[in-house]
Amino acid sequence: MAIFVLTIMLFPFNFYSQNPYFQQEVNYKIKATLNDAKHELSAYEEITYINNSASSLTYIYFHLWPNAYKNHKTALAKQFLSQGNSQFYFSKPEERGYIDSLEFKVNGKIVKVEYDGVHEDICKIILNTPLKSLDTILISTPFHVKLPDAKFSRLGHSGQAYYITQWYPKPAVIDNEGWHQMPYLNQGEFYSEYGSFDVSITLPKNYLLAATGDRIDAKEEEAWLMSKVKETQLLISANQLKSKKNEFPVSSNETKTVRFRQSNVHDFAWFADKRYHVLKDRITLPNSREVDTWIYFTDNEADLWKKALEYVDDATLYYSYMLGDYPYNHVTAVDGVIAAGGGMEYPNITIVGESSNAFNLETTIMHEVGHNWFYGILGSNERENPAMDEGLNSLYEMRYIRAKYPTKTLTELIGKDSSFKFLGLNKLAHDEYYKLAYLIAARKNSDQPIAKQATEFTSYNYGAIVYAKTAIAFDYLMHSVGEERFDEGMKFYFDNWKFKHPSSTDLLKTLEYHSGTELGWFAEEMILGRDKLDYKIIKHKDVKDGSHKITLENVGDIEGPVSLTAYKKDKLVGQVWFNGFTGSKTVGFPVSEVDKFKIDGLGNMPEINKQNNTLKTKGLFKKAEPLQLNFLAKIDNPDYTQLNYLPILGYNMYNQFMLGCAFYNYSLLQKKFEFTLAPMYAFGSNTPVGFADFQFNLHLDKVFQTVTPGIKFKSFAYDFADRDKLFPNTNVTDASFFAFNYYKIEPFLKFEIKKKNPVSRLSHTIKLRSVILAADEDHTYTTVFETIQQSPYKKQKISYVNEAAYVFRNNRAINPFGFNLKFQQNEEFSKINLTANYEITVSDKYAAEIRMFAGTFIGGNNKGAYRFRASGITGYQDYMYDGNFLGRSEYQGTAFSQFTEDDGGLKVWTPLGQSDTWMAGLNIKSPKFFKLPVKFFADVVFTDGQFLNTEKVLYCAGFDICIMKDIFEIYIPLVYNKDIKNTFKLNNKDSFFETIRFTFNLNRIEPRELLNASLF
Ligand SMILES: [Zn+2]
Repeated sequence: MAIFVLTIMLFPFNFYSQNPYFQQEVNYKIKATLNDAKHELSAYEEITYINNSASSLTYIYFHLWPNAYKNHKTALAKQFLSQGNSQFYFSKPEERGYIDSLEFKVNGKIVKVEYDGVHEDICKIILNTPLKSLDTILISTPFHVKLPDAKFSRLGHSGQAYYITQWYPKPAVIDNEGWHQMPYLNQGEFYSEYGSFDVSITLPKNYLLAATGDRIDAKEEEAWLMSKVKETQLLISANQLKSKKNEFPVSSNETKTVRFRQSNVHDFAWFADKRYHVLKDRITLPNSREVDTWIYFTDNEADLWKKALEYVDDATLYYSYMLGDYPYNHVTAVDGVIAAGGGMEYPNITIVGESSNAFNLETTIMHEVGHNWFYGILGSNERENPAMDEGLNSLYEMRYIRAKYPTKTLTELIGKDSSFKFLGLNKLAHDEYYKLAYLIAARKNSDQPIAKQATEFTSYNYGAIVYAKTAIAFDYLMHSVGEERFDEGMKFYFDNWKFKHPSSTDLLKTLEYHSGTELGWFAEEMILGRDKLDYKIIKHKDVKDGSHKITLENVGDIEGPVSLTAYKKDKLVGQVWFNGFTGSKTVGFPVSEVDKFKIDGLGNMPEINKQNNTLKTKGLFKKAEPLQLNFLAKIDNPDYTQLNYLPILGYNMYNQFMLGCAFYNYSLLQKKFEFTLAPMYAFGSNTPVGFADFQFNLHLDKVFQTVTPGIKFKSFAYDFADRDKLFPNTNVTDASFFAFNYYKIEPFLKFEIKKKNPVSRLSHTIKLRSVILAADEDHTYTTVFETIQQSPYKKQKISYVNEAAYVFRNNRAINPFGFNLKFQQNEEFSKINLTANYEITVSDKYAAEIRMFAGTFIGGNNKGAYRFRASGITGYQDYMYDGNFLGRSEYQGTAFSQFTEDDGGLKVWTPLGQSDTWMAGLNIKSPKFFKLPVKFFADVVFTDGQFLNTEKVLYCAGFDICIMKDIFEIYIPLVYNKDIKNTFKLNNKDSFFETIRFTFNLNRIEPRELLNASLF
């Protein structure tokens, strides 16, 4: 029954499909010549196509994937942009590539070719007569490939290093679901028909050539390769092989032709470089087949590669042992440029990019070699179901590392050994890497189901879900059904489906049969859904006979198996797996001496929250995990309640130096409740100061993706009392006596609108907040609100401003833009304004910026403090107390030169152009000049001109020294209105240096925001 359910759930079209399984056979003969001066291939291809389907074919879809690199209209070019990568968009024509000179013939007669209307890398050849079931045709065509630069994706050249992949005209797959024609993509792999390849490659004689397949009649080439192996071994034993950059030797005038042949594969790739060192080994597989292993590498990371033959050997042996013998004659790993991630797999041969350390090199090589099984031999549709190759392969990658390096910790990820203590990485087993990757997304509720097409995943989730979640989900399944049964099932699956196109249904059917349990929950909730797993331990009871009764509750959405682990003095007593359930359930644990029970003590369940897993059988605080105080942060460790701290140092003119400590509970994994508490002490004012914030992260997953209610607090000094005026002829000098403090309380509510499409670069946010401010005031000021007598000269004024903002952003790679529509009000005023930002992207690193501002007052009768300001906001004008100003109340000196780029955004200071009616402004910044952090800026502000009765148009232009964009920038105004110049004179600020202003927005560097921004 469960099998029936699975079929419907996983692939509805499979269920309705009337056609039985079949696969076509496609046999290739290709002759190709490399022109290494022009970086081109000229080739001729003959394909024997055997129609094994029950029906006749009138056309055949072909992939012409080198055309993906042709222009900006291709799916590849669009995908780059949708992922924020503009490198290809700004590429030079000579860096791009294409395939042309095609002339398709079938059985010697020219056929009509129809190009796909959307994708230039797909075409359809129209057969002159239908190809009947079980009939064969011969398709032939010449072709010419202009190779793109290898920096973009998988095909290309880097100088005279050649990576020849996805390079020849290739029929798309037709199976019982129909045709699977697909454009080439960077994120998203392939689906190809099985058959044989007979490929002859002609190129200058001094190239080393590594390819899919066995060399045929190549005695001379093989002797030369063996001499290269000897040469490499000698270099190693003489200790002369060191990592360095090396130049390409001159190509020989003579050419050679090397022929390769391979059957039962679905692709053919080759790599050629004149600089390669070569090493070779021969291994015996579990069922005594012998296989050659090869590595080809340049000097680039020679120190690492000289040990890499072991990695190829171990991976080949491991996968052969776990799934079934490697069926071909060689396994090869090649060092090269690969822009699509750490490495890329092809049948028999694997290309591996820069690895920086030995462990990375080993995991990349073993992963890519492993793809010979999950991709090469088990040829699932990777584009439609990428988890079938990447996810399962990551499971075996994880198991390989566990088996070979049982004590490896997460520290290895940054290339250090376990003695290197950083963020607690050394305390966590290496496989936590996969769990963390998944949990980072799941805890933010930005995860996606495993069963999605490659193109539907965000870049982050392509790694975190397709690779990591699939690996830990199957690892969980494996532990719950027992490793032996699982492996038996996987061996059967391999044997039954090798050289075929298995679907996820085929895999789950096999595992269901071999595990003897129903896997409906696994298919529906772990694979198809994004449900979360979470069990909670409730209570424990001793039974008279010495056994135990433990009550567990399923507080998650997945009815999956749960394991209970028992400990005595932190030593493992035993583990029992129970079938999944909903609600709560009391389970029995056999007779044993136990002082602690833990759900998933061995860490095999992908639970969303492990903080509710432990129960001590005795003592107070049975459920409390010990507190762990961490400097900065640590990777989340469920064995502790973690609190992070960071000493902080601050300065402003009135508090002067401040020292304190921030305590916070946020880290990589989002929590439902997050807080920061940062008490500080100010040494100038001798007062406690500081800030705090508290927020709840609620995942609604409906109209709003998340809703964040919270509250912020902040208290610092903002001014000194005027001592001479207050206390003439006295000698009170104590700064603490004169500091005027403010206390800001800011309740807020943030709504993030759910994206219809997770990969969309559009975001909509609504922010509501009230700023409630209590500020010390000189009693000579008139107050509007209730006043509290604090001291002989200080009164406190309490005020508030309510704000509602709608923030839109289109974060596209080229010309991103956004706007912020803001409404503010209190009893004295109400106003509305719009700030729009538009970037003009001029290259993949440079952009010009345009900012537009427009605002108007709607009402109010005491607008003075809330006026629009032409010159941005200086300290004393910041009525929301949002900025971090060195001197909030200064009218001269360095502190006065600090401002925020709000309102009119004029970079030069002027008291002119303040308005309690309306204002509009336009601010332009040029891209950086060359590589210098210098930009040109120009501003113009329009207003009513009523304030001080001046010009209605104010302008300013000059240079911007952009030290950190939007955070620390210095503006040097050079040209501005005469009126502005005059007000400088009136205010005695006419020296050039006094016109220089700066922004210093420390509050933009919020660690929590940075954490999110860097990951998504
Ligand atoms: Zn992979």
